Amino acid sequence: MAEVTLVIRGGSVVTPEGLRRLDLALGDGTVLDLGEAIPGPPGATVLDAAGCLIGPGLVDLHTHLRQPGREEAETVESGARAAALGGYTAVVAMPNTEPAIDSAGVARDVLALGRDTVAEVAVAGAITVGRAGKALAPIGELAALGVRIFTDDGAGVQDGALMRRALDYAKGVGVTLAQHCEDECLSVGGAMHEGCWSSRLGLPGIPAAAEESMVARDIQLVRLTGAPVHFLHLSTAGSVQLVRDAKAEGLPVTAEAAPHHMLLTHAEVAGYDPVFKVNPPLRSDGDVAAVIAGLCDGTIDAIATDHAPHAPETKDAPFDQAPPGMLGLQTALPIAWQVLSPLLGPEQIFALMSTRPSAIAGLGVTDSRIAGHSAHGGPLDVGATGNLCVFDPSATTVVDPTRLASRSRNTPYAGRTFTGAVRHTVLRGEPVVIDAVAQR
Ligand SMILES: [Zn+2]
Repeated sequence: MAEVTLVIRGGSVVTPEGLRRLDLALGDGTVLDLGEAIPGPPGATVLDAAGCLIGPGLVDLHTHLRQPGREEAETVESGARAAALGGYTAVVAMPNTEPAIDSAGVARDVLALGRDTVAEVAVAGAITVGRAGKALAPIGELAALGVRIFTDDGAGVQDGALMRRALDYAKGVGVTLAQHCEDECLSVGGAMHEGCWSSRLGLPGIPAAAEESMVARDIQLVRLTGAPVHFLHLSTAGSVQLVRDAKAEGLPVTAEAAPHHMLLTHAEVAGYDPVFKVNPPLRSDGDVAAVIAGLCDGTIDAIATDHAPHAPETKDAPFDQAPPGMLGLQTALPIAWQVLSPLLGPEQIFALMSTRPSAIAGLGVTDSRIAGHSAHGGPLDVGATGNLCVFDPSATTVVDPTRLASRSRNTPYAGRTFTGAVRHTVLRGEPVVIDAVAQR
């Protein structure tokens, strides 16, 4: 039997059936034992988890790590550190880098950069060459490297016939296409949600229909091809209802929502602060309520951060000229906890942030093709990979932009306090965050 190197004491383990007051012993990268009052053998690290929830490490389906090309905003290393501090043990790096992740060479480079980071880094490949929406990327070649998700995120695939061909191809290869739903004919020139606030502020609007028309089109294409589609960052009540109906019909669709679309509305834009510019934009109160309802009834499968760092010199621009995007990795779980814990149990919140995103990204099992990758999403039984998030629901997270691990500072939550805080993160049995401090 492997040697115990880590014992986590005093917490409650989040299981699919609810909470269980258990200590954990880990060694050789895996959970070796769960039980009451497990002693710490000499030489083992003992972590206090009194009052904490011990869940499977979080998995983010939607992280912009900006490398290669925008290293002043984020690197694989700095983004992975932000992820670990947020309780994540794996993130999916979006392919809208410079160059885009549209070839095996770039995918290999990003995977190599993430080999020894404090959170595992999977990559999403682009659907089209250069994310330009004209010609299919070498999806099969990327799939052979272990890439399971493909998206042109930052843009939707505008050409329906090309998207249909991509779906046919993806189905044959066994990978999932993820769509950033935005009809550019409807959104062009827009800077914020089209509604009462865009009128009042005199900013050009992006109507809800720009998102909903592409969700509707892609549902038709799923019906036509039988290929699965994952909908990125749903933000409108209409989109949520379209996905709810598609699921009721039995179509293979999944969806995610971002924490900012569960908490913030277009009213935040009143001060023209570009930190509140994001794509899809912050929407109405009714849309926020619909996103939360979708998370509660299973229409939306996962919470994904859309962590989108921008260096101050590019983000600090007039609202209509600033690039869209906000940081998210270090605030996602406290926000989810604050918004959802009155409505859902801890096991359901961890399912939205770990188990289901892990399954959608194909990270629930170890892929031997990718060095250093392990299984995520639980359940935390004996033999499970030692990927854990230890969360203290009675602590608070105070957001200080200068203390975030990201290279960028564009959090919309500066100065805000949330209920709950990530205390420890364990990656393959190694404590990479202890008492909210990254260990490397
Ligand atoms: Zn997007």
